[in-house]
This record gives sequence, structure tokens and C-alpha cells, in this order.
Amino acid sequence: MKKLSVSQIKEILNKYGLKATNPRIYIYKILRESKEHPSVEMIVNQLEKLGIYASLGSVYNVLDVFCEKGLCIKLKDEQEVMRYDGNTDFHIHVYNTQDGSISDIEDEQFCGEVTQYFESKFNKDEIERIDLSVKTR
Ligand SMILES: [Zn+2]
Repeated sequence: MKKLSVSQIKEILNKYGLKATNPRIYIYKILRESKEHPSVEMIVNQLEKLGIYASLGSVYNVLDVFCEKGLCIKLKDEQEVMRYDGNTDFHIHVYNTQDGSISDIEDEQFCGEVTQYFESKFNKDEIERIDLSVKTR
């Protein structure tokens, strides 16, 4: 995903009513730049590489706030481990049952058609989120 500067991230966090603390800035940066749909542990490790030491609990809390505000989404992998995605635009998730990875398929046209389909079945404001995934081996 495209790189965001610290000032761009600060702007986004402020727009969502969040104080731009250092852990929040870098957790959001990791979420937006990662294609791995990281777990909390993976995020803690990546923060450490940046010289930021945060506990699992505090990272969980930040992620919960982000999800609540609509800055990220939660997914569960094959081992029922919570994984996080900073891409909140509708896209397809590919769950690899062999290696446990989660990857993306971004197909604007197809996702647009799926969105239209569901919007014809429900009132637009009734739809909270559309999930579409495929499991591969
Ligand atoms: Zn994704």
C-alpha cells in the first residue's frame, strides 16, 4: 500500500477525532503499509524495529479504537488469531489454509458490481460492511 508521511497520518488521526500519539501514528503506518494483515504480535515486533516499545495490551487498545472509528477492520485467521487490515475499502480476502497467510484481491469493477448487488437487496444505510473471501490450499 502507498506510503504515508507522519504529517499525513497525523491529519487522518485528527480527522477521526484521535490525538496523534507516537504509538498511534506508527501503528497506523504499519497497518496501512503492510500487505500481511498483521496480528498484534506482528505489529509489536514491527514497532520494536522502529525503536518503539509498546505492550501487547496497549497495541490492542489502539487497534480497538481504530476499528471502532473505522480506521481498520478485524479479521480472524485460520488459527482464530485476530488480524488487522488498514485498507477499509471493500476488497476480497484470500485465506491460505496452508501457510495461514491472508492476501488481497483488489478488483474495482467486480467489487463495484458486488456492492451494487447488495445495495439492491438492502437499503444502503443498512449495510455495515460487505465481506468476501476465498480459502485456498
Ligand atoms: Zn485486506
